[in-house]
Amino acid sequence: MKKVVSLAIVFLFIISCSTVPITGRQRINIVSDAEILPASFAQYEGFLKENKVSTNSKMKNEVQTVGMNISKAVDKFMRANGMVSEADSYRWEFNLIEDPAVNAWCLPGGKVVVYTGIIPICDNVDGIAAVMAHEIAHAFAKHGQERMTSSYGQQLGGIAVAIGTNNKDPKTQALWNTIYGVGSTVGMLAYSRTHETEADKLGMVFMIMAGYKPEEAINVWIRMSERASGGAPPEFLSTHPSNQTRIQNLKAYLPTAIAQAKKYNVK
Ligand SMILES: [Zn+2]
Repeated sequence: MKKVVSLAIVFLFIISCSTVPITGRQRINIVSDAEILPASFAQYEGFLKENKVSTNSKMKNEVQTVGMNISKAVDKFMRANGMVSEADSYRWEFNLIEDPAVNAWCLPGGKVVVYTGIIPICDNVDGIAAVMAHEIAHAFAKHGQERMTSSYGQQLGGIAVAIGTNNKDPKTQALWNTIYGVGSTVGMLAYSRTHETEADKLGMVFMIMAGYKPEEAINVWIRMSERASGGAPPEFLSTHPSNQTRIQNLKAYLPTAIAQAKKYNVK
């Protein structure tokens, strides 16, 4: 019996191998959109009920406009690159939450939340675009589902818990918090370094496609590190241990990002 189960798992892994568009990285993901999207949307609804949407209409509009522009670019990319059904499954939404945490996230299917606490670090519209494009890139590349697939995700309670429809279940909530950063205690969560680097790269490409200045992605991380050295909460330091490497990588990738955006941009 055990052997049959392990063979089934091996088989699942083989058929679940795919490539991340643009970066070309091979990934393993056994969580389908049909499974994860209803759970994702339920998590998002639950979160909005329990958290305060910002009443600052200027800031809110900025977040929404930036989100719309980036999502349009991502949607266009997906439709031009054989991802039509995926593009159709997105239910894009952008919200600004009144919360001092330095955080932002995007759930599968395009539910994006930005916390007011990250706005000073964004500093300007291009900075907001850098953060939102980075988070959207995590969702686009299905990093959370990949994490659920990995043994780490299984250790945390498994895929079944994550896609449980009861969004009030503390186990389910904790898992979504760890995997996607929902909730404010973790701060901008630590995906693996591979996922962070990939989201930085894809995010840069997406923000260029949407018409924003990619240099600001570098400046956002410079401001992050300045804030970190000026007495940021310890969890922030622990989730982002190497801002300097990240800044260097972003600088090095900038010309490639411009070229990629040009190559993939469908007018
Ligand atoms: Zn990230």
